[in-house]
Amino acid sequence: MRALSASKLLNAWERGSRQPPVERALLLLGAACPEQTPEELAQLSIGRRDSLLLDLRERTFGSQFVSRLVCQKCGEQLELAFKVSDIEVAAETNDPETLTLNGDGYDVMFRLPNSEDVRAATVASGDREQLLLQRCLLRVSKDGVEQSTAELPAALVEMVVDRMARADPQSVPLSLVCAACSHKWFMGFDIVSYFWSELNAWTSRMLREVHVLASTYGWRENDILAMNPWRRQSYLEMIGK
Ligand SMILES: [Zn+2]
Repeated sequence: MRALSASKLLNAWERGSRQPPVERALLLLGAACPEQTPEELAQLSIGRRDSLLLDLRERTFGSQFVSRLVCQKCGEQLELAFKVSDIEVAAETNDPETLTLNGDGYDVMFRLPNSEDVRAATVASGDREQLLLQRCLLRVSKDGVEQSTAELPAALVEMVVDRMARADPQSVPLSLVCAACSHKWFMGFDIVSYFWSELNAWTSRMLREVHVLASTYGWRENDILAMNPWRRQSYLEMIGK
């Protein structure tokens, strides 16, 4: 994996701006990991994909996160700062091909959800979680007799979902305390939407810088994007922008 250059970031933003989150995640990773095919990246479990995205975000915009949120109890505006290491979790195993589980006479073989499953669920109508689960159930048998995966009892479904979460943990929930009213709660962290909103802000800034430098000096977009950020900044300061 490599950090994304300004022109690669801009390309990913352009291609992903009208796409759902699952495609945005794959576009960013595809640009950073050219040694892996799009199919390989789409088959990574969601936890593994998000951990690569955290790594890419750290290489691209640094390890510090700042999030603005509102207290659910008193409405106070809060600013939360944390680091990649505060939310990173180690997976139990390195993306196992298949997992198995037994209970109530059932033997269940399943795999972890990946971006292809999320992609299929995104465009599906009906119960998306159910579809996601069905795609990941590989084989169900009761007392040695094969059963339809659609008829797995609710208690077993819960065990499968729990086992998936332990094998493929996503980010650690952040523990929050309101500075005004001391209300405490937990917040999940979504690296795809965080990274993308940061990329949106970065793109607006970058396009403006390109516009100012190109109209002042007549330089080409590619040359401006290829400049070191501090050099670009120095030119902008010289022309008072
Ligand atoms: Zn509060």
